[in-house]
Amino acid sequence: MLPSFLDSVVQLIARTSTDLPPDVRKAMGIALAEEDRSTRAGQALNVIAQNIDQAASCEGPICQDTGMPTFEVKVPVGANQIWMKAQIREAVAEATRRGKLRPNSVDSITGENTGNNLGPGTPIIHFEQWERDAIEIKLILKGGGCENTNAQYALPAELDHLGRADRTLEGVRKCILHAVWKAQGKGCSPGAVGVCVGGDRTSGYLHAKEQLFRTLDDTNPDPRLAELEQRIMNEANTLTVGPMGFGGKTSLIGCKIGALNRLPASFFVSIAYDCWAFRRLGVVLDPTSGAIQSWLYREGTTPSVPLLKPEEIAAGFPASGREVRLTAPIPEEQIRALHVGDVVLISGPAFTGRDAVHSYLMKHDAPVDLRGGVLYHCGPVVVKDATEASGWRITAAGPTTSIREEPYQAEILERYGVRVVIGKGGMGAKTLAGLKQSGAVYLNAIGGAAQFYARCITKVTGVDLMEFGIPEAMWHLEVKDFPAIVTMDAHGNSLHKEIEEASGVQLEAAAGG
Ligand code: SF4
Repeated sequence: MLPSFLDSVVQLIARTSTDLPPDVRKAMGIALAEEDRSTRAGQALNVIAQNIDQAASCEGPICQDTGMPTFEVKVPVGANQIWMKAQIREAVAEATRRGKLRPNSVDSITGENTGNNLGPGTPIIHFEQWERDAIEIKLILKGGGCENTNAQYALPAELDHLGRADRTLEGVRKCILHAVWKAQGKGCSPGAVGVCVGGDRTSGYLHAKEQLFRTLDDTNPDPRLAELEQRIMNEANTLTVGPMGFGGKTSLIGCKIGALNRLPASFFVSIAYDCWAFRRLGVVLDPTSGAIQSWLYREGTTPSVPLLKPEEIAAGFPASGREVRLTAPIPEEQIRALHVGDVVLISGPAFTGRDAVHSYLMKHDAPVDLRGGVLYHCGPVVVKDATEASGWRITAAGPTTSIREEPYQAEILERYGVRVVIGKGGMGAKTLAGLKQSGAVYLNAIGGAAQFYARCITKVTGVDLMEFGIPEAMWHLEVKDFPAIVTMDAHGNSLHKEIEEASGVQLEAAAGG
C-alpha cells in the first residue's frame, strides 16, 4: 500500500535507539559543563557523554534497555490503521533482529520472552486522526528503571520531608519534588519528568507520558504551568541527588506539566520519570508512499554534534589516579580494604545475572564457580557473530536496577562466595548486612552507559540458562578496566543512604518554597 512505510518506521526506531535528540544533548552538555570533572558526578557525566557519542557513531543502542516502544501516530481521515499497525509491529520485530531493540517483551505469567518485542500490549501504538494530508509518527523508548520510578499521588497527601500536599498547585509542586527525590539514582538521573495534574488514574499516567513528547526547551502555553515548570527546575537542582544519585549539581534536565479535568472527588498528580537516555524522535511521512518527508526534534539526518572532543572519547574513563584495580577472583582482604566512594577498575571474569538468574540460584546450584567472583546485574543486547569464538557479540551492556534482587542477594553472596556485585541504584538494608557478613561490596556502574561498558568487555566466553532469554541468561564475560564506584561497602556504609538523607534535608528546605 505505502511501499516505504515499513522501512521508514525501521529507520525511526533505529535512530531513536541510537542517537539522542539535540534538546536532550544540549541539556546533558549543560550538566556536564557545570560539574567538576574530577568528582564522582563529573566522572559519571563524562562516561554518559562518551556513551552518547559512541552510540551515535556506531549506531548501537544508547542503553541496553531499549524500553517499551510507544508510538503516537497521526493519520489523515480514511487511512488504513489496521494495516499501519501490522507494519509498525513488523518494523519493531525487524529492528529487534538488527539489534537496535533488545528483546523486551515477556509473558507476564510465565516470564517467557517472545524474542521479537511483540506480544499482548507490546508495542504500544496510539492512533489519532487529523485534518492534515500527512502521517506523523512519534516514538519514545522508555526503559524499565525509569518506568519503575513513576509515581502517582492522590491529594491531599502527607509526604516525607514536605508535609501536607493540598489540592493546589503548591501541592502539585511538592509532589513533583518528592518524586524526584524518591527516584534518587534508580531512574538513571539526571532525568526529566512529564506530569499530569488531574484526569483519572489511567488518563493521568497517559497524559504525563505525553508531556515527554515536548522538547525540553519549549515554554508551556499555560503561564501558571510555565512558572511551575521553571520553579521545579530550579528547586529540584538544589536537592543534590546528582547524576546516578552520586550527589552533584544536576538532578533534573526537564519538567513538563499538563493538566486534564478531573472528578470533583479526585485530585491525582501523575509523574512519568524518564532517564538521561531520553530517547524520543518522530517523522512525518508522505501519505502516498510512506517515505520520510521530515524528521521531528532534529534537523533531518544531519549527524549529531558530539558532546566531547575526539581525544576525550579516545581517553576513555577519566581516571583521577586514585582508582583501585581489582582482578577476579578477588581475595576477601582486598574487598574489606575498600570504602564507600572508592572508584575501582575491575578486570577478569564476570557473570551477568538478573531476576531469573537470582531466582534460579536460590533453588539450584550455580552453573559456574562464583567464589571470589563478580556478579553483574545486566541484561545485555547480544547478537550472533560467527567471527567470535563463542559465537556471540555483546553490543550493549549497561547495569540494570539492582533493588529488584534485594530479596535474594544476601543469601547468594553467602552461598556462592561472590565478592563483587555490580549494578545501579543501590540495594537495601538486607544486602548491606549481607555484604558486611560475607565480605563483599556493591559497585554502582553508570546506568545506561551500554556502549561504554560494552567496550570494557573483551570477550564472551560462554552462556548458561539461555532458556530465560537473552537478557536474563547468565553470560560469561571477560572484562578489562571496567569502572564503577563503591557505593555499599563491607563495613556497613551506603552512599545511597547518605545521599538520600542529605537530599532529604534539602527537600525540607524546599518545602517552605
Ligand atoms: S538509562 Fe537507566 S533507566 Fe534509562 S533505560 Fe537505561 S538502564 Fe533504564
